[in-house]
Amino acid sequence: SRQKLVIGNWKMNGGYRSAQALLQPLVTAGVSAVVAPPFVYLSESARQLAGSSVSLAAQDVAAEAGYGAFTGEVSARMLAEAGVRYVIVGHSERRQYYGETDAQVAEKSLRTVEEGMIPVICVGETLAQREAGQAFAVVSAQLMAIADCCGVDFLAGAVVAYEPVWAIGTGRTATPDDAQAMHAHLRGVIAGRNPGIAAGLRILYGGSVKADNAASLFAMPDIDGALVGGASLLANDFLAICRAA
Ligand code: 13P
Repeated sequence: SRQKLVIGNWKMNGGYRSAQALLQPLVTAGVSAVVAPPFVYLSESARQLAGSSVSLAAQDVAAEAGYGAFTGEVSARMLAEAGVRYVIVGHSERRQYYGETDAQVAEKSLRTVEEGMIPVICVGETLAQREAGQAFAVVSAQLMAIADCCGVDFLAGAVVAYEPVWAIGTGRTATPDDAQAMHAHLRGVIAGRNPGIAAGLRILYGGSVKADNAASLFAMPDIDGALVGGASLLANDFLAICRAA
């Protein structure tokens, strides 16, 4: 009964014209989906998506609230004003390349909810961690760090995305069984705190989701959708993934 959710994360890709070209087929097809263009395209994208079943996500948000002297940052309030509904927080690329910590991810998640938007909290293990048999421990610790900081009830208004780092941009998708095992584990950990919230929590899978593997992932009982990178930059492929959900 959890409704499936597909989010396209464009990362630092697009260009003004291709942003428009990627959005129009989604609007025309009438699919329900979420797209996360870079900040500079959000306002124009909101205009293009007005009245459609496609919602907007941001790829990041400032940890600071409101407005202020934080050069280069974009706040949750600004995103909400621009028509954004979801905010991706704690993507592994931000954790790896920009040193984001669980504490910062928690702050960003709080700012997102304070402005009436939905955080998409990303968690995932590296290849070394998986090979060392630590995947379940690492990923549940990431999620519980957020839950402990924000309160488990907070997850009622959030989405979780499990993205194994070794599957991102590599073409090496987790098998549906491996992804399902992690999703069930995470749901179980949350259920230990609050079974109702665990049952309603949407847990997306991300990492080399493509048009030809989406359906087998979505068939798993604890996989509630996808966070799509590369394939979200190909209009027909992304449309196919949305339709498989
Ligand atoms: P790919 O789909 O390109 O592997 O990227 C996944 C991802 O990081 C989405 O946030």
